[in-house]
Amino acid sequence: MKYVGAHVSTSGGVFNAPINAHKIGATAFALFTKNQRQWKAKPFDSETIDKFHQNMEKFNFQPHQVLPHDSYLINLGHPEKEKREKSLNAFIDEVERCRVLGLDRLNFHPGSHLRKISEKESLDLIVESLNIVLDKTEGVSLVIENTAGQGSNLGYKFEHLAYIIDGIEDRSRIGVCLDTCHLFSSGYDIRTEKEYRKTMEKFDEVVGFEYLMGMHLNDSKVKLGSRVDRHHSLGKGEIGLEPFKLIMNDDRMENIPLILETIDPSIWDKEIELLYSFVEG
Ligand code: MN
Ligand code: MN
Ligand code: ZN
Repeated sequence: MKYVGAHVSTSGGVFNAPINAHKIGATAFALFTKNQRQWKAKPFDSETIDKFHQNMEKFNFQPHQVLPHDSYLINLGHPEKEKREKSLNAFIDEVERCRVLGLDRLNFHPGSHLRKISEKESLDLIVESLNIVLDKTEGVSLVIENTAGQGSNLGYKFEHLAYIIDGIEDRSRIGVCLDTCHLFSSGYDIRTEKEYRKTMEKFDEVVGFEYLMGMHLNDSKVKLGSRVDRHHSLGKGEIGLEPFKLIMNDDRMENIPLILETIDPSIWDKEIELLYSFVEG
C-alpha cells in the first residue's frame, strides 16, 4: 500500500490535521505539532489529545501514515554549546509532543555548521545530540531528512546520513526521509529510470533502505546540483513526472508516508490523484 498525502495545516488545533488530510483524499499527512517558527509551545491539554486520537480513528490514519516535522529553528549541530542545548531541549519537547499524540516518528533536518566549525565536527555534535535525545525519550523514531545543501546545511550527501546513523547507539529508533527536491538540488539525478535506479542503488549501498521511514515528494524550481531549496508542484519543475511514476511502483516505498510539500496547496488533491493514477497493475 502506498500512503500519499501532504504537509497539512493545523490551524485551530493539531486535531484538524487528519480532517484536512481527509479532505484532499490523502492516506498520509505531515504536520507541525507546534508553531514551527517559535521555540516554545504550551503542552497539549487532554482535550486536544483526545480530539486528535478521535480524528485519527475517524479518518483511518495509523501512526505510520503520519510524518510530523520539527521546528525550523532547531540546529542539533550548532557550533555554540548554549544554542545547541536550546535546540536539544526544544527537540526533546517535540519528540514528547509526538509521543503524547500517539505518533511514532519525527522528521528533522540534520543541522548546520554555520561556517564556524568543520562539517565533521558539526556531524559529531549532531550524533552526540541525537544519542542524548534517544536516551531521554521513548517510542518515537528520529527521521533524518536529506537536504538540498543550501548554505551550511548538512545532510546533502548520503554519506552524511550514514555517518550520523553510524554514531547512533540505539539504531532501532533512527530513520531517514528522502526529499526528491533535495535529492535533485544536491546533485542526485532521478529524472530518468536509469538515473533513478542509480541514485536509489547508491542510497541503499551507503545508507540502506531499511532506514527509509518516509519521503517528501516535491519537484524542484532549480537545476540539478544547484544546492538551493526551492520546491515546485509535481511536473512543473526541473524534475518532471518520471521519478514519481517510479516511486509509486517501487516496493521499497510501501507503507511509509509519502508527503507532498509542493507550493500550491489548492492542487494537492489533484496531485494525490495523479500519483495514485501512476500505480500499475
Ligand atoms: Mn524538511
Ligand atoms: Mn522536505
Ligand atoms: Zn525543501
